[in-house]
Amino acid sequence: MATKRKPSWYDDEITAVAELARGFFDRELIAKREQWDAQHRVDRSVWLEAGKLGLLCCSIPEEYGGGGGTFAHDLAVFEAQGYCGDYALGNSVHSGIVAHYVLEYGNEEQKKAWLPGMATGEILGAIGMTEPGTGSDLKAITTSAIRDGDHYVVNGSKTFITNGGSADMIVLAVKTDPKAGAKGVSLLIVDLRDCEGFAVGRVLDKVGQHGADTSELSFTNVRVPVSNLLGESEGGFGQLMAQLVQERLIIGAQAIGTIERAVEETVAYTKARQAFGHSLFEFQNTAFELAECQTIARTCRVFLDNCIEDHLNGQLDGADAAMVKYWLTEQQCAVVDRCVQLYGGYGYMREYPIARMYEDSRVQKIYAGANEVMKGIIAKSL
Ligand SMILES: Cc1cc2nc3c(=O)[nH]c(=O)nc-3n(C[C@H](O)[C@H](O)[C@H](O)COP(=O)(O)OP(=O)(O)OC[C@H]3O[C@@H](n4cnc5c(N)ncnc54)[C@H](O)[C@@H]3O)c2cc1C
Repeated sequence: MATKRKPSWYDDEITAVAELARGFFDRELIAKREQWDAQHRVDRSVWLEAGKLGLLCCSIPEEYGGGGGTFAHDLAVFEAQGYCGDYALGNSVHSGIVAHYVLEYGNEEQKKAWLPGMATGEILGAIGMTEPGTGSDLKAITTSAIRDGDHYVVNGSKTFITNGGSADMIVLAVKTDPKAGAKGVSLLIVDLRDCEGFAVGRVLDKVGQHGADTSELSFTNVRVPVSNLLGESEGGFGQLMAQLVQERLIIGAQAIGTIERAVEETVAYTKARQAFGHSLFEFQNTAFELAECQTIARTCRVFLDNCIEDHLNGQLDGADAAMVKYWLTEQQCAVVDRCVQLYGGYGYMREYPIARMYEDSRVQKIYAGANEVMKGIIAKSL
């Protein structure tokens, strides 16, 4: 960590989880990243290893196979991932989002059916909201789920789905009432194993995060049992909105990991490389740039820690969560860009971690709600 201080929400147990996670990400993701990049997905064996180490579904209760911790345990894993520079393993979606939809809105049967397998990595989860025609405006989705006896018949397509090509199950945002706008949106759990009418399209070629499986999915007359509806009745837009607070903290945790690592790496690099008879760090511009970046890292850290504490006490509101997502990702991109500059040409070479951070960071300002949407949420609270 660039800051010597421990984050305020780290106790001994969270510290141990973070250390375990860093070892895992360095060993299984970073060391093998060429392979994951080439195949645009991480092998299932890595998920199983993460499960074995207790790094999946950390905050899911033990009775459902999870780690029985708090969301702080999950956040320590996401932060470690950002610090190590891995954006390939879609665990923030799997453990941080999908498992929590099932936990919060699933009935006993659904929780028992999905969560234990998700905690071991045997069942991989995805969330399908975005469609080719709509992303930010979620109420405009057109994937339909029309009731036919004991089943819904699902038709439509999704895009940009993290873990999409590898997932065993997906929490799918559908329109159970296509004419009802936001009120017509519901969430269905779709079992993708042996699922007639379901097809994976392209795995998408992205600017960064190459090892991540980001895929197009299509559903043609897929029959989903009515018992797979999440929640007691149709109408799941509120469920989507309620989970967003936690999702935005996840992005913040990844961002702080990357910001702190970028500064750390760049200080070390500029102190080691010589030009004009002294180290790069001895140029006042370099030292001042890094002084500014470190100040940004520190202020981001304090703000994030404060919001995490609020969340752990059940007090984080939507506007603060939006500020975390907006502010930390803007700072992540700005700091990483400034660090690339201080590296010179080496900063543009993918063999250097700073170059990977540069390409992996950009999308943080776009997904989980574009930053402009975050500003809209903040503005509404004023
Ligand atoms: C790598 C990656 C992984 C993803 N993973 C998932 C996933 O697992 N599941 C999933 O469902 N989706 C996923 N997404 C989709 C992601 O959440 C959307 O891309 C995002 O919500 C933006 O939607 P859009 O791309 O359709 O952009 P649009 O909605 O078309 O918006 C384009 C731009 O318009 C502007 N804009 C939009 N709305 C507003 C507004 N209200 N106010 C001001 N400006 C606005 C913003 O600048 C925005 O960036 C992923 C995307 C990427 C790139």
